[in-house]
Amino acid sequence: MALLVSDVVETEDPKEGIAKRIGVDPSEILKIEVMRRALDARPKVPVWRVNYKVELADEAAVLARKAKGARAFTERDEMRRTGDLHLGDTSKKSNDSHDTFKNIHVSWGTQPVVVVGAGPAGLFAALRLGEAGIPTVLIERGGPVEDRVPAVNKFWRGGPLDAENNLLFGEGGAGTFSDGKIYTRRRDGELGWIFRILVEAGADPSILTESYPHLGTDKVRAILPALRRRMEDAGVELRYHSRVERFVVENGRCVGVELDTGEKIAATAVISAPGHSARDTLGKMVEAGAAAELRPIAIGARIEHPQGLIDQARYPEGRGELPPASYRLAHSPKNGRAGWTFCMCPGGMVVPAMHQPGTVVVNGMSFAARRAIWANSAVIVQVLPSDYPGGDPLAGFRFQAEIERRAYESSGGYAAPAQRVADFLQGVGSSDLPKSSYPMGIRPVPLASVLPEPIIEGMKAAILRFEQDIPGFAGPEGVLIAPESRTTAPLRFLRGDDLQSSSLPGLLPVGEGAGYAGGIISAALDGFRAAEALRVVGHRQRDNE
Ligand SMILES: Cc1cc2nc3c(=O)[nH]c(=O)nc-3n(C[C@H](O)[C@H](O)[C@H](O)COP(=O)(O)OP(=O)(O)OC[C@H]3O[C@@H](n4cnc5c(N)ncnc54)[C@H](O)[C@@H]3O)c2cc1C
Repeated sequence: MALLVSDVVETEDPKEGIAKRIGVDPSEILKIEVMRRALDARPKVPVWRVNYKVELADEAAVLARKAKGARAFTERDEMRRTGDLHLGDTSKKSNDSHDTFKNIHVSWGTQPVVVVGAGPAGLFAALRLGEAGIPTVLIERGGPVEDRVPAVNKFWRGGPLDAENNLLFGEGGAGTFSDGKIYTRRRDGELGWIFRILVEAGADPSILTESYPHLGTDKVRAILPALRRRMEDAGVELRYHSRVERFVVENGRCVGVELDTGEKIAATAVISAPGHSARDTLGKMVEAGAAAELRPIAIGARIEHPQGLIDQARYPEGRGELPPASYRLAHSPKNGRAGWTFCMCPGGMVVPAMHQPGTVVVNGMSFAARRAIWANSAVIVQVLPSDYPGGDPLAGFRFQAEIERRAYESSGGYAAPAQRVADFLQGVGSSDLPKSSYPMGIRPVPLASVLPEPIIEGMKAAILRFEQDIPGFAGPEGVLIAPESRTTAPLRFLRGDDLQSSSLPGLLPVGEGAGYAGGIISAALDGFRAAEALRVVGHRQRDNE
C-alpha cells in the first residue's frame, strides 16, 4: 500500500514538507516519489506545490485519522505513475465504436497504410501502426530535422524561402520550431503512452510530473531523430522530401496517393495529417471528396515585452530561482468580439512562420532554458465563418491568405509589420520601434493596414483589459508584430466514430489541419487514435479470416 499526499509545499528536504502536511515524523517516511509538481503563483512569494506517492511505516494510522491531504494510492494513480496504456480499455472502446468500419480491409503484409505528414499526428500514428506490425509508409514533403534547421537558418539570414522545407514543413511538423508546451491535465492512458515515448526518445522525465511542462525547440530537435530510429526499427518506411499531390479515389473510396514525382502508392487506408498550413493538400482532400465544414478561428498579432516586465507583475517580491513568468488572459466584452492571449512564450522569441513566398506570418518559440530577455504571446480575436469571403470549405484560407499577403506588401518583404502598443491603442503610426527578438527585422507599419477593423478593435479592447492584470502590458515597452493568422484550421473534415471521412471511406483526416487538434499533444493523440482504429479493425478482420 501507499498514500497519495497532495499539495505539499516544496521544501529542500521533501520528507519534512510531507511530514508536516500529514502530521507524522519524517523518520516514518520510507519512500517518496513525485507525482505532480506545479508552481502556485497566488501567494506573494510563489511556491511549488507537489503531489507525492508516499510509503510510510504505518499508513493505516494516517488514513484512520483522516489526515488532511492524504488518501490511499489507487490503481488509477498507479496508471498515472507508469503511463500505462491499458490497451484492454482502449480496444474495448474501439471495438464498440468501430463497428461502422466496414469499408476498410486491413490486410496484413500486402498494401500498407499510408500516413501523410510527419508532424505530431502523423509521427505518432505511424509509430503506433509500425509497432503493431502493420506495414506503414510515412510521407513527408519537408526534410528530416537535420535538413530543416539549416534551411530555416538560411532563410532567416536573408536566403530564399523554401516552400517545402521550412519552419512549418518537415520532420516534426509545426511543433519542431516551437515552445514545445505540452500542457495536459492527465498523463495516463493514451496520453501516458505519448509522454512515455517522448521520455524514451530523450525528453526530460520531469514532463511526466510537471504541471506545465515544455520541451523547447532544442529538445524537440534532439527527440525527433530518436523517434525516427524507433519508427525505422518498427519497420515504418519513411519518405522525406516527398509531397502527396493527389489522393487516389476508386469507386468512391480512397485507395492510395500519388506523389509529386508521379509515383502512386496503393494503400489499405490513408491517414492524412498535413497540418493547418498545407492549404494545397487540404484542398486536395476536399477535391477528392472528403466533406468539410467551415469553423471559427482567431487572428491577431504577437505582443512582445521585456520578460522583466512580466516577471515584475507576477513575482512582485522578485523572481529568484523561479521560472520566467507566464500569463494567460482573456476578455469577453458584452458587445464586440472576444479576445485572448494564446501560446505565450516566456523567455522566447517571435519567429517568421510562413511557408509561401510573398507572405508574412508570425508565431512564437523558445529554447528549453527559456533564457531570452523577451516574453511574447499572441493577442488574438475571434473570427467567424461569416467573415470569410464565401461559404465553401476553403473560404477561411482565402481570408487568412489575404492578411498574410498584405503583411508582406506593407512591410516590403519578410520583415514583419510592427507597431508600438501605445501607438496602436491611439491609432497612430510608430515613428520608431523598440528592439525585438524577431530574427528578420520589424518595420513600423500601422497594423490597421494589415488586419481587418473588427480584429483591430477586438485587440484594442483586450489589451486595455489585460493592462489591469499586468501593469505595463499596454505601455510603451510593448510592441505588436503581425500577423498571427494561423492559430488553428478554418475548416473541419467530417468523420465518423471510426475516424474515417464521412464521405470518402479509406481516408482518415487527422490532426490540426483536419480540425481535430489544437497543439502538439492533441495532434499526437488524434494520430494515435487513427492508428488504433485501424489496428483494432485489422485484428478483428484477421481473427475472422
Ligand atoms: C512556431 C509555432 C509554435 C508552436 N508552439 C506550440 C506549443 O508550444 N505547444 C503546442 O502544443 N503547439 C504549438 N504549436 C502548434 C503545434 O505545432 C501544432 O498544433 C501541431 O504541430 C499540429 O500537428 P499536426 O501533426 O496536425 O500538423 P503539423 O505539425 O503541421 O504537421 C503536418 C506535416 O505534414 C506535412 N505535409 C503537409 N502536406 C503534405 C503533403 N502533401 N505531403 C507530405 N507531407 C505533407 C508537413 O510538411 C508537416 O510536416 C506551435 C506551432 C508553431 C508554428
